[in-house]
Amino acid sequence: MTTGHHRQGEVVAGTADEGTTRMSGPAPTSGLSRRQLLGGSAALGAAAWLLRGTIGPDSAQAATPVPPALPAGTELYQRVFQNWSGEIRTDQLWTCAPRTPEEVPALADWAHANGWRLRATGYRHTWAPLTVAAGTPESARILLVDTSRYLTAISVDSPTTVRVQTGATMEALLTHLAGRGLGLTACPAPGELTVGGVLAIGGHGTAVPAAGEVRPEGHGYGSVSNQVVRLTAVVLDPATGRYTLRSFGRSEADSAAFLVHLGRAFLTEVVLRAGADRPLRCVSRLDIPASELFARPSGAPGSGTGTGTGTGTGAGTGDGGLGGVLGGVLGGVLGGVLGGGGGPRTLADFVERDGRVEAIWFAYTEYPWLKTWSVTPNKPLASLSVDHPYNYPFSDSIPEPVARLAGDIITGAWGSAPLFGQLQYLVAKVALTGDLTDLLLSGDLLRQLLSGEVLTHLLAGGLRSDLWGPSRTLLQYIRPTTLRVTANGYAILTKRADLQWVVSEFAAYYRELLASYQARGEFPVNGAVEIRVTGLDDPASCGVPGARPPLLSALRPRADRPEWDTAVWLDVLAFPGTPGLERFARELEQWLLRTFDGTRAGLRVEWSKGWAYTADAAWSDPDLLGRVIPDSLRAGGGPGWDEAVAVLDRHDPHRVFGNPFLDGLLK
Ligand SMILES: Cc1cc2nc3c(=O)[nH]c(=O)nc-3n(C[C@H](O)[C@H](O)[C@H](O)COP(=O)(O)OP(=O)(O)OC[C@H]3O[C@@H](n4cnc5c(N)ncnc54)[C@H](O)[C@@H]3O)c2cc1C
Repeated sequence: MTTGHHRQGEVVAGTADEGTTRMSGPAPTSGLSRRQLLGGSAALGAAAWLLRGTIGPDSAQAATPVPPALPAGTELYQRVFQNWSGEIRTDQLWTCAPRTPEEVPALADWAHANGWRLRATGYRHTWAPLTVAAGTPESARILLVDTSRYLTAISVDSPTTVRVQTGATMEALLTHLAGRGLGLTACPAPGELTVGGVLAIGGHGTAVPAAGEVRPEGHGYGSVSNQVVRLTAVVLDPATGRYTLRSFGRSEADSAAFLVHLGRAFLTEVVLRAGADRPLRCVSRLDIPASELFARPSGAPGSGTGTGTGTGTGAGTGDGGLGGVLGGVLGGVLGGVLGGGGGPRTLADFVERDGRVEAIWFAYTEYPWLKTWSVTPNKPLASLSVDHPYNYPFSDSIPEPVARLAGDIITGAWGSAPLFGQLQYLVAKVALTGDLTDLLLSGDLLRQLLSGEVLTHLLAGGLRSDLWGPSRTLLQYIRPTTLRVTANGYAILTKRADLQWVVSEFAAYYRELLASYQARGEFPVNGAVEIRVTGLDDPASCGVPGARPPLLSALRPRADRPEWDTAVWLDVLAFPGTPGLERFARELEQWLLRTFDGTRAGLRVEWSKGWAYTADAAWSDPDLLGRVIPDSLRAGGGPGWDEAVAVLDRHDPHRVFGNPFLDGLLK
């Protein structure tokens, strides 16, 4: 594994590598440098990371074995694979960047003939070891196939569909659609993800129909994968015994296995359905306590009949003027009077009103950052009009005090997590609303950290609590320069009326678990909890008769539970290497499985993130990997896990597109 012949300091394999001089070795979970953690990638153009840190096959320093007799013209170099969070880091691996889709089947034939395997790679933003595992040695016969360099074409397919190669970014895709007056209802928050990467894991955003909202043609409330109309995959042609490009229409049964495939296939191009763009208004607020936002639904504790029918108070919804303020005050008072979560400011109330919510609940704090998006054709008077994505600069360019404290934490000051949570809350509150009250009421330390200079900086770009624009400007809001955290991820499938029950059960348990660790002097979480809500993958969204939902999507509806129409997405974020994190994540996961056991709600994992926790590691628990996860996609009967595995095996019987982790999982 150790590679003394590499040029020290030259391996800059992606944004996460900036400033790194380590050449190889195990995943640097506790050894992340401050610069790695904070990215610093803003200074690094894509070209820089493509060229620096690569070693060509002719280089005297290239490691052996060189892939033998590659198809002529293959552009080949070596590169350390490091994922965004830095938790997966490998030796230098051979990498190529095909210029055309046709190069990929030729590579697959080569791989099969020579005993190598191909791993498609986009921006390497996935936490789970779906591409390669941490510590993969250079002796592994793995050829990484980077789509992001050349397979990036986007073109018009029809007035309501787009043809996109899988290496194109989601940002480029949404920009193209916007240029044609089209948009998606929801999508992942970062724009720097490849379309192929997002489809592989069933990428999602946050949206269900608001009260009275009827799904417009071409729109969907499930995964991006569910918008696919046609796809091109690299498959074995049984007639010739060679790999070939094959197009699958969505009405063709096998396509359902390729729509979410975890990297067990290779897609070169897809055609996606979109709908007429609907401008959005995004309102942020930090004035509702978690005890109210995530309150148990009214009715007997724990048995909630569900809220989901609230009418909302108008708080923060109206024109942002007196109505909004009064609504906020009244909402608070009423919420308090009614108690027990029957009040009008629960998460379910906002979902009912706007259909689109995200709650970011910083650890050890009481007031989550709640974002709500509403379909708003014309600019409201109070909203700031935006024409570009990424409108929360304070979360993309980490303010200096936050960076400093984060650096202290990852170098050992784990007990500063509560202070860190408070600091993140205050930064968000000040930058979004300009309201300094909480800061003035906070302790000396926080007031010192957020000095006048920092506040001036935070407020310089104007307040961001009420934004309006074309959907893409508000759906994409995270840059890769945000704090480098790791995350677990789950989708809880339930009926809409039980949404608040799911959220409240989770919030209560999370709070209790965090407190019990804290009482023992442990701080396993130092990032936020993120909660989002989507619909399921209704194939009608793609508009193709006979279409089936993606078989491996966490959002595939369950045949035996037609009333389950909603998924609550739960993530807990923390710095990689935080002591006790995996133990905490395991306890949480086991509780989630017990609580959402298929009776009133069911659990599926979010493929790109952390799951199957033992007390020491993610993606490791044998019972989760061998039984619970497959069963979560079998439950309810009908086509599911087993069909997906069989179809993917049939089209790639040599398992050229796979790795040992997927070999173990997908069986
Ligand atoms: C800060 C951050 C925020 C995120 N937010 C969200 C979010 O809001 N919603 C969400 O759903 N996800 C989110 N994600 C997860 C992200 O969507 C996935 O990790 C996605 O797979 C990353 O895309 P990528 O281009 O980096 O793919 P990679 O990580 O490079 O690849 C992911 C998987 O896809 C496979 N793959 C890539 N291209 C192809 C192809 N052409 N053919 C076949 N297989 C392929 C790879 O082999 C691998 O198995 C977030 C990730 C980060 C780091």
